[in-house]
Amino acid sequence: MCKVPEPLQTGLVGPDRLIDEPDQYRLFDLPIFERELREWLPSRIFDVHAHTWLAEHLRRPIAEDPVELLFNVESVTWEELTVAYRVLFPGVEVERLALPMPLRVVDIEANNAYLASRIDNERSFALLAPELDASPEELWHQIVSGRFVGFKPYLSQVRNKSLEEIRILDFVRPAQLEVADRAGLLIMLHVPRPSRLADCINRDDLVAIADSYPGARIVLAHAGRAYAPEILAPALDVLTDLPNVLWDLSNIQDHDVVRLLLERVPIDRIMWGSDIPVATVRGRLLMLNGQRVCLTRRPFPWSVSRVGPEPLACTFMGYETLRALRRACDELALSREQVSSLMYANARALVVGALDGLTAA
Ligand SMILES: [Zn+2]
Repeated sequence: MCKVPEPLQTGLVGPDRLIDEPDQYRLFDLPIFERELREWLPSRIFDVHAHTWLAEHLRRPIAEDPVELLFNVESVTWEELTVAYRVLFPGVEVERLALPMPLRVVDIEANNAYLASRIDNERSFALLAPELDASPEELWHQIVSGRFVGFKPYLSQVRNKSLEEIRILDFVRPAQLEVADRAGLLIMLHVPRPSRLADCINRDDLVAIADSYPGARIVLAHAGRAYAPEILAPALDVLTDLPNVLWDLSNIQDHDVVRLLLERVPIDRIMWGSDIPVATVRGRLLMLNGQRVCLTRRPFPWSVSRVGPEPLACTFMGYETLRALRRACDELALSREQVSSLMYANARALVVGALDGLTAA
């Protein structure tokens, strides 16, 4: 899959590596994988959401970015991502859509170039982090020369507004939409504003974008960040009718959310993603009175953990996401083929479609 030699152990050593506590992995996490996930997972899966960037791409420490992040590493190299897949999903073949880390503290030009140098567009693909003021011609040139399959714009690039006020079109610029529309490219969208998909401004903007740019494939990252069914349900009334709005399940750890999506959205619009490095954090994401709360094994400023000698017995958030997905699929009696669509074929078809669109355009 990857031509660069892979140092198999690097991901497992040291407290600040992508995956720490090797003993905990062997004694606790791996048995969960063997017991609950191995048989259920297809032998080949496609990760539609994995971040990859180098420490040298950072202009300042990552914690200085205004956006709250659910991880604690300063980089995920291409090789570390490969190692993370082997550790999390041993024996499973994983194809990837690699995303840059599109934060304000990151040199996105260098990050984009790094991804372009690593993808083979057979088993690994990438999205471009766009400059917000780039013209359609500039974006087209960047997409074609790097062989990217779409864009990963992000709200932390917006400078003239507070985070709470940012609207989708402030960072998903018309130039990106025009280019995506022309070739059927993806836009991996992180829904902004405090109430996310429950916010009718967001919903109106999404409907307008999807209608005006029917060729663009709008992928709602983390299912629009609708981490609870009561947030998702009203949005589905509006968004299920939009054929070019798709759903990425990364970080969705509530099986009722997954189940609601599977009940209401055509299955070919739903895809699994890891959001690595988040999937490698041992913890669980919960909604509590409308707030997102993270329980974690290790203490972080953004999480709740146990003080004392015995830390919480948490496994990887990546496993919690798959547990939720599996439970929803089991409850709805989905076939092996349907599970395989969610875990592989839908995302694969999407990126291959974008490549074909680029070739044809
Ligand atoms: Zn992400």
